[in-house]
Amino acid sequence: MSHVPFLDLAAMHSELMPELDQVWKRVASTSSFIGGELVERFEAEWAAYCGTKYCVGLSNGTSALQLALAGLGIRIGDEVIVPANTFVATVEAIEAVGATPVFIDVNPQTLLMTASVVEAAITPRTAAVIAVHLYGQPVDMDEICRTASAAGIAVIEDAAQAHGATWNGRRAGSLSTIGCFSFYPGKNLGAFGDAGAVVTNDDALAERIRSMSNHGRARDNPHQHEIVGNNYRLDALQAAILSIKLKRLEEWNAQRRRAAKTYESALAPLPLEIVKTAPGAVSSHHLFVIMTEHRDDMRRALAAENIATGIHYPTPCHCQPAFMTKRRVRLPVVEGAARRILSLPMYPHLSDSTVGRVADAIGQALREFEPLELLAS
Ligand SMILES: *Cc1c(COP(=O)(O)O)cnc(C)c1O
Repeated sequence: MSHVPFLDLAAMHSELMPELDQVWKRVASTSSFIGGELVERFEAEWAAYCGTKYCVGLSNGTSALQLALAGLGIRIGDEVIVPANTFVATVEAIEAVGATPVFIDVNPQTLLMTASVVEAAITPRTAAVIAVHLYGQPVDMDEICRTASAAGIAVIEDAAQAHGATWNGRRAGSLSTIGCFSFYPGKNLGAFGDAGAVVTNDDALAERIRSMSNHGRARDNPHQHEIVGNNYRLDALQAAILSIKLKRLEEWNAQRRRAAKTYESALAPLPLEIVKTAPGAVSSHHLFVIMTEHRDDMRRALAAENIATGIHYPTPCHCQPAFMTKRRVRLPVVEGAARRILSLPMYPHLSDSTVGRVADAIGQALREFEPLELLAS
């Protein structure tokens, strides 16, 4: 049986190889390796794609989140509400500015945060909420923004898994004050190394983050350091690669959606759950996640069939040693899901026949795990 990878980046890059091959020469000819015209071009393209006024290219998604918080003035003593089922980077960014993460539970069908749970977690010290568009599925931002604005708190989007996803026709990342992206190689739009960005319509915020990412420099005087900054800049080489790959993003996301539809119809008759996309949401299908009580056995059965899978994430953030606070919280949905979630192979070049093979292997395994239930149905 041929190997089914979890993600096939080589197939994506082979479509673009002639153009990607030219990148070194283009960057060398500009002699700008950090910032410069290729970075500015990608920033303009990514802002246009997201439907925002500004994009600031940054070193990675974690620094994007950290600068979004710092740019909004979030600091020591502040609380930031965050879903417990996210990649640890979301939480690291909160800790990095000295604020306190307040972990919340999620909707059992979508595994996303909801406004009512956010509302219940608001205290007089709450300064912001980070909405994580996990797996590529946008959070209901209308209700989150309504709740946050009533409480006078800022909203930040972690759109690291949601390039091109939409909520009621608007792009993930453009639905709040500021959206944060990662272009880590495995994301829907990935660089050839680390890269990230923020997008926003707020002039002052964009300018502050640009300065903070570049040693606090004044825009018109590189020797004047107006604020305490750091080095979180985007490389020209990565920006040039991202501009080339961006031309294919819509098509690649459409291919992922097609693969997701094929999975959904093939898996529908089986006794398992598929993480649900809410009406109004168009997912970018960064990941395709199912839930089953037999997760660990299922994972082994698929590995035996040469099918690679992943778990995003096996330990929720509030249970990680690094973030276990004195006040231990119980989040039953996130904790239960962490034992049941399984991410299936998902990438643009995943064929219908490969999806069929994965679905057959899942069906076969379930028949072994619970023959009686299946006979009854
Ligand atoms: C990848 C990811 C990040 C971090 O991005 P890096 O570029 O790896 O720093 C943050 N949040 C989520 C949800 C992610 O998936």
